[in-house]
Amino acid sequence: MGLVASAESSGNGRTRAGVVVSYAPATGEVLGEVPIRSAAEVRDAVERARRAQQAWAALSFEERRGQLLRWRDALVERAEALVDLLVRECGKPRVEALVHEVLASVNHLDWVATRAVRILAPREIEMALLKHRRAYVHYAPRGVVGVITPWNFPMFMPMRDVGSALAAGNAAVLKPSEVTPLIALELKSVYDEAGLPPDLFQVVTGDGSTGAALIDAKPDMIVFTGAVATGRRVAAACGERLIPCTMELGGKAPAIVCADADVERAARAIVTGGFANCGQVCVSVERVFAHEAVHDRLLERLRALTAALRQGDPASPDTDVGAIIFPRQIAVAEELVADAIAHGARLETGGKRRPGPGQFYEPTLLSGCQPDMRVMREEIFGPVVPVMKVRDEEEAVRLANDSELGLMAYVFTKDRERGRRLAERVRAGVVMVNDVLSDAAVPETPFGGVRNSGFGRVGGEEGLREMCEVRVVSYDRIALGVREPTWFPYGEKTYRLARGALRLLFRRRSPVRRLLELF
Ligand code: NAD
Repeated sequence: MGLVASAESSGNGRTRAGVVVSYAPATGEVLGEVPIRSAAEVRDAVERARRAQQAWAALSFEERRGQLLRWRDALVERAEALVDLLVRECGKPRVEALVHEVLASVNHLDWVATRAVRILAPREIEMALLKHRRAYVHYAPRGVVGVITPWNFPMFMPMRDVGSALAAGNAAVLKPSEVTPLIALELKSVYDEAGLPPDLFQVVTGDGSTGAALIDAKPDMIVFTGAVATGRRVAAACGERLIPCTMELGGKAPAIVCADADVERAARAIVTGGFANCGQVCVSVERVFAHEAVHDRLLERLRALTAALRQGDPASPDTDVGAIIFPRQIAVAEELVADAIAHGARLETGGKRRPGPGQFYEPTLLSGCQPDMRVMREEIFGPVVPVMKVRDEEEAVRLANDSELGLMAYVFTKDRERGRRLAERVRAGVVMVNDVLSDAAVPETPFGGVRNSGFGRVGGEEGLREMCEVRVVSYDRIALGVREPTWFPYGEKTYRLARGALRLLFRRRSPVRRLLELF
């Protein structure tokens, strides 16, 4: 149908004759190929997941926790093999593969598996006026959650969403990125080896058309992580089918460096936040607003730290920055850097793709940037950090908020109070003071964006609850006999009673109201 056809534009040249080819970005070596699952196969996967979910939902939290922790243990056992595959299929350095992917995934799974019992426990509701009644919310699993993920964190993102879905009692069908399908299949094979119900978690490999087919198969929820443009199509497709969805889209994280910042810490944080995972992070530092009092010192340290980064073979333990996973990002970086220089920015270091095999673009620092430059407005998703000098923090906050995206933001100051005050004024889903990146990967904080960065939350109590239908049960605490005062039949008496209640309860300093509050 039309929806499937519209996904064709998301193809990225890796697909041919019914298969997706996976290759190593650092060497160009072909690693394998996987099938593009047909719409019928996707429908079948959702149906099987739906059947498996019935038995899973009937288990207690403790029983589900036991099984999920077996998967966690198996992932820990297989950590080295997973790191090797992540290094090969994504070109990311070993430390990043271990910390950002394996450790973050295991931590998330552990957290949701052990906390779900408390977070999803029925929540009692006290009635302010109708004292004779009570209610509670219970969180029921939605059913089958469709998870669609990008290529930049091909283990953590699927594990985060699938882990939360399962911990809440759902089944999950994962459509991983066509750029990194092998890791998703490895997660499924570890899951199967750990002995969890086979159909409860399934992977359907393929391209955009497979993702569209997953929505078309009408799961009970979609958790989508990817680009803003794709997110619009996915949200529209979900809207047509009234499928609830969570949208984790792009980012353009600003870093505000105040006059009183610890310049050395800010510089190291920005370099890590800008170049980790070769800048292919939705929460990468993509705009630096440095107070004029510290700008020059900061720039000097940023230049030195960036130039000292060791880029190359991701399998080497000494490599800081690996390859670009998805080649299009090199073209984007080249275009945005050229445009910035043409409009007056200065290239401090980097700025070139590396010749030879593999997809490498140097960590690049630009100074003298202006808010209207494309590099300050469009998502780069590559190793480029543009810096701009600002007069004061007011200007910094104004410019930080001058964006259609609002995923994450950073503030650097030695004054904790000032940090919190500024952070609260930045329109972003998460703002970190004196730190970078980590809140996007810890299970405790609800993660997600505002404005075009999306809606809904993954992670935290909010993320786990979004995996559930919110259902209310209300019941009579004290029996009022056969009839409530406002039921049929109506009459003058009913009206007078309601009018009296209105006055008694909502007048200022109403003694009746105060009395009710005591109970
Ligand atoms: P993408 O939007 O091209 O693809 C994401 C996924 O959507 C892939 O699995 C793809 O096959 C699938 N897809 C494509 N068309 C579809 C359709 N019509 N229906 C259903 N599924 C479809 O994104 P990408 O290039 O893989 O990833 C990079 C983007 O992801 C960046 O913009 C980045 O900011 C964003 N991202 C956001 C977060 C976050 O948490 N907010 C995290 C990582 C990446």
